[in-house]
Amino acid sequence: DKTTGKVTEAAKEKAPVRSVINVPVNRTSEIQESRLKLPILGEEQHVMETISEHPVVILCGATGSGKTTQVPQFLYEAGYAHDVGMIGITEPRRVAAISMSKRVGTELNLSTREVSYQIRYEGNTTPDTKLKFMTDGVLLKEVQKDFLLSKYSVIIIDEAHERSIYTDILIGLLSRIVPLRHKKGSPLKLVIMSATLRVEDFTENSRLFKIKPPVIEIESRQFPVTMHFNKHTPQENAYLNEAYRKVCKIHRSLPEGGILVFVTGQQEVNTLCRKIRETFKSKLSDTKNKAVKEDDKESSQMKTKIPRVQLDDYSVLPEDDELSEQDGAHGNNQSDEELSEPDDDDTFDDVSREPGDSQNPIYVLPLYSMLPTHKQAKVFEAPPAGHRLVVVATNVAETSLTIPNIKYVVDTGKVKTKFYDKVTGVSSFKITWTSKASANQRAGRAGRTGPGHCYRLYSSAVFNDEFELFSSPEITRRPVDDLLLLMKDLNIDKVVNFPFPSPPDRLALKAAEKLLLSLGALEPPAKPQKPTRKSQRAEMDNPSARISPLGRAMACFPVAPRYGKMLSLGHQHNLLPYVIALVAALSVQELFVEIGEPPIDETEKQAWKNRVGKMVMLKKTWAGQGQSALLGDLMVLLKAVGACEYAGCSTDFCFQHGIRHKAMIEIRKLRSQLTNAVNSVLPAANVIMDPKMAPPSELQAKLLRQIILTGLSDHIARKLQEPSTGTNEEKKKLKMAYQSIHLEEPVYIHPNSVLYKQNHEYVVFQDITETSKLYMRGVSVIEAEWLPVFVPHGCTFSKPLDSPPPRYDSSSGNVLAHMTSTFGVRCWEIPAVEL
Ligand code: ADP
Ligand code: MG
Repeated sequence: DKTTGKVTEAAKEKAPVRSVINVPVNRTSEIQESRLKLPILGEEQHVMETISEHPVVILCGATGSGKTTQVPQFLYEAGYAHDVGMIGITEPRRVAAISMSKRVGTELNLSTREVSYQIRYEGNTTPDTKLKFMTDGVLLKEVQKDFLLSKYSVIIIDEAHERSIYTDILIGLLSRIVPLRHKKGSPLKLVIMSATLRVEDFTENSRLFKIKPPVIEIESRQFPVTMHFNKHTPQENAYLNEAYRKVCKIHRSLPEGGILVFVTGQQEVNTLCRKIRETFKSKLSDTKNKAVKEDDKESSQMKTKIPRVQLDDYSVLPEDDELSEQDGAHGNNQSDEELSEPDDDDTFDDVSREPGDSQNPIYVLPLYSMLPTHKQAKVFEAPPAGHRLVVVATNVAETSLTIPNIKYVVDTGKVKTKFYDKVTGVSSFKITWTSKASANQRAGRAGRTGPGHCYRLYSSAVFNDEFELFSSPEITRRPVDDLLLLMKDLNIDKVVNFPFPSPPDRLALKAAEKLLLSLGALEPPAKPQKPTRKSQRAEMDNPSARISPLGRAMACFPVAPRYGKMLSLGHQHNLLPYVIALVAALSVQELFVEIGEPPIDETEKQAWKNRVGKMVMLKKTWAGQGQSALLGDLMVLLKAVGACEYAGCSTDFCFQHGIRHKAMIEIRKLRSQLTNAVNSVLPAANVIMDPKMAPPSELQAKLLRQIILTGLSDHIARKLQEPSTGTNEEKKKLKMAYQSIHLEEPVYIHPNSVLYKQNHEYVVFQDITETSKLYMRGVSVIEAEWLPVFVPHGCTFSKPLDSPPPRYDSSSGNVLAHMTSTFGVRCWEIPAVEL
């Protein structure tokens, strides 16, 4: 018996035991054969008995042991989806939700009507759905609608070791839902699955599960993987060259078997894929003999050939695989890089054979979360006969997808993570060492089908001394405003008392509460009649503001609270279609294709410059004149979306205009989803979604800026006066600098913005990211005199006290304020104005 953990007999008795039903399944013999090889198959009875006897079960098993594909099938066959409800399976990544539903459907020989998936914008669920794969964000939204999750008989939380923020919250919520369902007499089973044995945050937390859940360990049938550490760790920016060099070396000197390379982001994946492909097309014969011996020389040559992946003024942002797959309550606004053209099928499907080279050809496939689904699925197919498969992947290949026939793993040891400042929300991407746990997961990919090798491109000393044991849970690393609103909407007022597997940072919670209060989504708690020291302190330690009616409306929209606020205010002047389109565009990842770095080659450089010039011109044209231009980057987004829809969203149009087709498709889906949400929250609005909206009028553009201001009221910046004294260096630094309301340091308009190098006094921005400077992205111009009306809580009004309060004329968008006021902690002076 591999069950560990103390489970009392009493606990066993309480759990209702199901009568055994056997649902027949008609699998093909081929499928049946491959299933039999999976370690979990021998444990079916043990797993099912434990699930039947306990409300909550934790299942640990190495990647590839068959958890995701088999456990849902066990439950299906045992009748858990027979008549009582569905089997729901959550994945932190969209890729996994889609590909696993397909695989399980195939294995069970059932149609997509019965084995379905649901991700943020799409799904194929039907009334007949028995097994539903979804992202964790989707299930979280369902909890908001139906707290007891009454449609489900079992919830499987997959990949719990990844500790995605929604997974953590779901586990906390389910720890309450499971006993409630038990009380109601319609028990819900919860199965938590993890690829590692580190589950103590779930088992040892007595606030979470009153009775410690049993842990089943699936013995992995892992073949030995030989570790090869580098003697020396390559310099910070040389790991990509090193990975390239290693792949070449393995291919040239080691027996057949697939190679899986881990790098940090999409741009690196594309760069390396192209490099490998190019090499085995033309370069190989020249250098073949020399290269293996003269590793170092080659490596230094390469340094100039692969431009270092870095953030400069023209690169937007790196991709973070971990976060980019998330959906649900919070629109993750981080963008990704696309070095190459949006649809470069031919580039990566290329199978090149070196003329006259006896070496087997290489078949290179990229794998990252933003890759279109059909291209991702290619990794499961066998490579063309006689070819060696090389998959260059981000950490998406670490645990959620098992790529067949990998014998060699090349691990750069690096991971790209988005870091946030807990208080200011300023984000930056950093490339750091991954954790020991995830490095071991990566290595394990080499031992699935036979003994394998893992080449770690760092020294064992670095591994031992500098790698953290585990990566920290996402909830401790990012702002939690969306999460706080969601919990308040579930009437969890004292969020600090919530049974988080790992609680979010106190400062982050406070910052979130402050933001939601300022947006009007929360109402301050009623003050006790006579506040005592003790009650004040209790309040400080345990903030418990309640949700307001506005907050309830905002919580209905599957976007960040700031954008939810814009949606709930945009009902005048027929503005909602524009607000919806804008919010949709702001909520999906970067709409424009990343142009990439300036190439080193002079001839290529000219082409690159032309492209950059063309994009600048295009954006300027889209921004237009007058009020429209003042909307800045947000007008560019609106026009890009509108123009693209006029062109039928063709891939050709997207390519010509530097637009990511995949993002455009997501925006279209989100627009329709938001239109439905707006109509159900504000029935009077009666918005009809017209993809091809006409551009807004001058007045509409002005009012849109005001709506944006209400959502971004804590993202305001004011132009700094250029100093008259100081060194030239200092003057230069402060030229074009802005002061934001929260940050000490100066901030700047991002060079990708249409408002770059323009002279506007007050602006609002979507977010600030730190690269070489603190850059504001998604910038629009606002007027100082609007602040007393749209952000009154940020203003201090001066005398005379008997002046009428500031007035707003909604037909013109003008503001009348008889009194002067100052704004924010820095006391920016706002003039009194007459209509
Ligand atoms: P775990 O969840 O424990 O990591 P999985 O259930 O995902 O394991 O994988 C079990 C096996 O199923 C693996 O050998 C994997 O290669 C195989 N598999 C998963 N998806 C597919 C697919 N789409 N096509 C072929 N084989 C697949
Ligand atoms: Mg799995």
